[in-house]
Amino acid sequence: MRIETRAVIASRGNEFGALVPPVHLASTYETRPGDAEAPFQYQRVANPTRSLLEKVLADLDGVPYAAAYSTGMAATAAVFSNLQQGDHVLVHASVYGGTYRFAQKVLPQHGIDVTFVPDPGTLTDADFRLSTALLFVESPTNPALRVVDIEHLAHLAHRHGAHLAVDNTFMTPLLQRPFELGADLVVQSATKFLGGHSDLLAGVLTTKDEGIYADAVAAQKNYGGVPDPAVAQRLLQEIKTLPLRLREQQRNAVALRDFLLEHPAVERVFYPGWFSEEERRIHERQASGIGAVLGVEFADGVSWERVGELLRIPAFAVSLGDVSTLVCHPASSTHEDMDDVDRAVAGISENLVRISVGIEHVDDLLDDFAQALAGAQEARA
Ligand SMILES: *Cc1c(COP(=O)(O)O)cnc(C)c1O
Repeated sequence: MRIETRAVIASRGNEFGALVPPVHLASTYETRPGDAEAPFQYQRVANPTRSLLEKVLADLDGVPYAAAYSTGMAATAAVFSNLQQGDHVLVHASVYGGTYRFAQKVLPQHGIDVTFVPDPGTLTDADFRLSTALLFVESPTNPALRVVDIEHLAHLAHRHGAHLAVDNTFMTPLLQRPFELGADLVVQSATKFLGGHSDLLAGVLTTKDEGIYADAVAAQKNYGGVPDPAVAQRLLQEIKTLPLRLREQQRNAVALRDFLLEHPAVERVFYPGWFSEEERRIHERQASGIGAVLGVEFADGVSWERVGELLRIPAFAVSLGDVSTLVCHPASSTHEDMDDVDRAVAGISENLVRISVGIEHVDDLLDDFAQALAGAQEARA
């Protein structure tokens, strides 16, 4: 069955046939004395609502295993927490800010050697060591929407006995299927498109590897960053409309991109494939669409603050994936911690705003951007 169908029916099959998955709130379970094998004993270790969520998430990715966490960062931390002292990891320098900070600050404290890779496309055999355990990448990147070749990097990592981890938050399994390209594990912030309503935090790690799964489960138990059952249930409900939402968001994003590309107040538009013909080809091969996040650099003298003030429909807010269009200014929000040099390398200028496109009527969105850009241009004149 196709992903649209699976998203709707995968959470069925509970005891009473309820179409809405039940929330199992119990922190502890009655077991027979001496029954160490009971599937549910204590909520941090396993919970029926969370187990159902994990079954659905694994199903969407087409792999046997998923582990759910309290946030996307907890999922990423779980990946890193299973490295050993003396391991070496290669980390894409344009990963999510929290991932970057974790790799930069926390891993060295545990005797793990980190090399940040500005452009994974330039990686060669010489960049891998005997101790290289993991290559961690994101495609497309945030907010420059640069693309890396997942299949090529999987081959390269595997040749050196390393695992390839992909953060697939921006694409979700609807638009990009890293396991079919050779990835060993995938993390997602379910806070974003999987949830889609800005009403929960959650993360997921999926894998086809039994050993990685055992480590992922150990991280749930040892660090305790698991989702609350009520959150797990809400996420199960929201996943049912993921294909519907994201397709509509993507359609709106394509229309808004095309409008912005032609607009004199706009200097550049970032979307997957904008950077080069090669990246466009890679993205078209490994994903089925541009997703719903765009970057816009305004022309000289057009103030992003003025545009932000004039827009009526989008919310000026960080985060992404919501059914509402969200606009943010990475240089002063999501990427504020970066120094100026790193920001320039990551392609984040002072005049860049990120747009996470929602499901509003496309004509209303285009009209709103048209009036805001016209107003900001007038202010310049
Ligand atoms: C938001 C985000 C994360 C972190 O997720 P949280 O749920 O906020 O912890 C990780 N990766 C990407 C690409 C994100 O956008």
